[in-house]
Amino acid sequence: MEDRGFDLEGRLDVLVEDDQKRSLAPVDRIAERGYFAAPSGGELPVLDSEEALVFASNNYLGLTADQRVQDAARQAGATVGTGAGASRLLTGDTLVHRDLERLLAETKGTDRALAFSSGYAANVGTITALEPDVIFSDERNHASIVDGCRLSDAETVVYDHCDAASLRAELAERAGRASSTDESWLIVTDTVFPTNGTVAPLGSICEAAEEFGAWVMVDEAHATGLYADGGGVVQAEGLEDRIHIQLGTLSQALASQGGYIAGSDALVELVANEARPFAHSTGLTPMAAAAASEALHLARHGDAREQLWENVAHLRDGLESMGFEVLGDSQLLPVLVGDRKDTLDLAAGVRDRNVIVPALRPPVVPDDRCRLRVSPTAAHDRDDIVACLEAFQAAGTEVGLL
Ligand code: PMP
Repeated sequence: MEDRGFDLEGRLDVLVEDDQKRSLAPVDRIAERGYFAAPSGGELPVLDSEEALVFASNNYLGLTADQRVQDAARQAGATVGTGAGASRLLTGDTLVHRDLERLLAETKGTDRALAFSSGYAANVGTITALEPDVIFSDERNHASIVDGCRLSDAETVVYDHCDAASLRAELAERAGRASSTDESWLIVTDTVFPTNGTVAPLGSICEAAEEFGAWVMVDEAHATGLYADGGGVVQAEGLEDRIHIQLGTLSQALASQGGYIAGSDALVELVANEARPFAHSTGLTPMAAAAASEALHLARHGDAREQLWENVAHLRDGLESMGFEVLGDSQLLPVLVGDRKDTLDLAAGVRDRNVIVPALRPPVVPDDRCRLRVSPTAAHDRDDIVACLEAFQAAGTEVGLL
């Protein structure tokens, strides 16, 4: 008999063979605040067990536990409702959404902003809605940007990571084509890259874009709320007027769930109409919108940002003075180990000392550039930072890296 079914077991076996399979934890291992998916066979540490310190969260400002953020979500649930009930283009629009969008636009220095139900949806929806002819994309861009490029009909040109000269060369090559003057070109880049903590050279990217008349779209997922006055890298570098689309997530520093874009009136109008993940998906829950608004207010006016950057400096100094190489230039601290086994051994050694730090391996990073990524948050205190450093010192010595 003919069989056109799917060999799911076979595909799972391949994942296991490649050491890529992840597992959800057995239910009795899940604690109230979560668990940490680990490669199959690995331990599944519980995130809120008393003794485990987690340096693996994007909750950068620690605001998911802030009473004011929680109260905002609770109040929106009680007054507006727990769900939007429909697409924002039908009856799912509320003042809570509008308040969030007003605050985002004000923070980002744009006419308007538009909230999506995730950062992933914002990237896919915005890139496809724009219908660019050619997209120039950094080779390390987030999967949701890659998927947006794939789903659009654009020709996608990948340039070298954070390399404005490589971008310029690609732009120049295509500008030589006769048809290129009628095309729309979009350059898209993360601002803070999560695997290596690098910050994109936005000024040079804008220069290259302006030379060829291309638009620039940036993904500030790992920067929103953390840089100048609670904005992102765009605000830190004063580039609001040179970047056409600022995009990000509400799920990291803003302690909630959802995504956004910020830009001109026309951009927001077009994307609201044409982005399928916006138009054909239920609006963000009002509770998430209210929590993100409150978190953005606190990111701009509270002291969590200062605390985060103090923790980042303390950890980076400590790790570097032990002899570790710490990559990047952001709040994320990728500790380069190199060899895959050494990296896993270091992660296990640190975890034995009750500190949870993820190991990044292929396909996320090249085989000989494996690393541990330490993510401090504003919720860590001095003792936590010291405990993390002690764990790295002891485990690094044990593995023979120090
Ligand atoms: N962009 C980047 C750079 C991300 O790291 C992520 C996920 N953390 C997203 C977009 C997607 O955001 P969300 O989790 O809100 O879907």
